[in-house]
Amino acid sequence: MIRIGQAGIPLSCKGRTNKDGLIYTKQVLDLNAMEIQFVRGMYVMEEEEAQFMKTYSKENDIELHVHAPYYINLAGDSEETDLSFEKILFSAKLADKMGAKTVVVHLGFYGEETAKKTMKVIIKNLKKLQRSFKKEKIKTHLGIETMGKQKVFGSLDEIIEICKSVKGVIPVIGVGHIHARTNGGLKKREDFEEIFKKLKPLRLRHYLIHVTGVLYENGNEYYHVPIKKGDMPLAPLIDVILDNNYNVTLISESPLLEHDAVYIRLQVERAIMKRTGKEQANYKDLSEIK
Ligand SMILES: [Zn+2]
Repeated sequence: MIRIGQAGIPLSCKGRTNKDGLIYTKQVLDLNAMEIQFVRGMYVMEEEEAQFMKTYSKENDIELHVHAPYYINLAGDSEETDLSFEKILFSAKLADKMGAKTVVVHLGFYGEETAKKTMKVIIKNLKKLQRSFKKEKIKTHLGIETMGKQKVFGSLDEIIEICKSVKGVIPVIGVGHIHARTNGGLKKREDFEEIFKKLKPLRLRHYLIHVTGVLYENGNEYYHVPIKKGDMPLAPLIDVILDNNYNVTLISESPLLEHDAVYIRLQVERAIMKRTGKEQANYKDLSEIK
């Protein structure tokens, strides 16, 4: 199955609450996923809105994810770590109330430490976090994202290694970030195949994939750009997904949000038509692909 959505309230949606954004995602965009952004500091969502998100998304088959605030450091001093715990737990509790599948977090910075030492500290803190999730009966999964800058923890290999060490933690595959960090490493079909090959030992039944164009230099991401403005091709990724019948959710985190989510949709449907030989396709129906 392929799900497609955008990271945040659609730009073209007049109402600016998450509730407005969710309804718009269904009724206007006809997409079936949304990632709620709690990225700028603490976001307060009323109980009532969270309940609505849960009911509406369930009734309309829209998959929800949540992105925790950007600035998190699980490899910093105790003050930073405590604050990060607070942000993650706050986001996770709300995510759980909404019935969201994943709460996405960034892990932190190497600082003065070696990659190995940083990994050790992060694993210790993630295990502690998972215990809190259990205690609070949070069913939403903690998703850890690949990052696009060298000084930020989170190469694909590091993220996979952590997922192997901490039970219940899942990878969030930011292909734009991987592309930037590997200085334009995602060009061909084999490059995307390699990602799934590396992920295979985790035996995931579903992949949460963030998609954006990205400007980068020397293995460092500068900023997100529209998919068409970046140099990472989308077609080989879609081919790999369709050929392997991977169960994925593609979230546009391009500055064009829903416009690029719809662009992803068109690319997916074009790839389906190529396979079925028909002149129409719907990304929600892959049954005719041989
Ligand atoms: Zn992120």
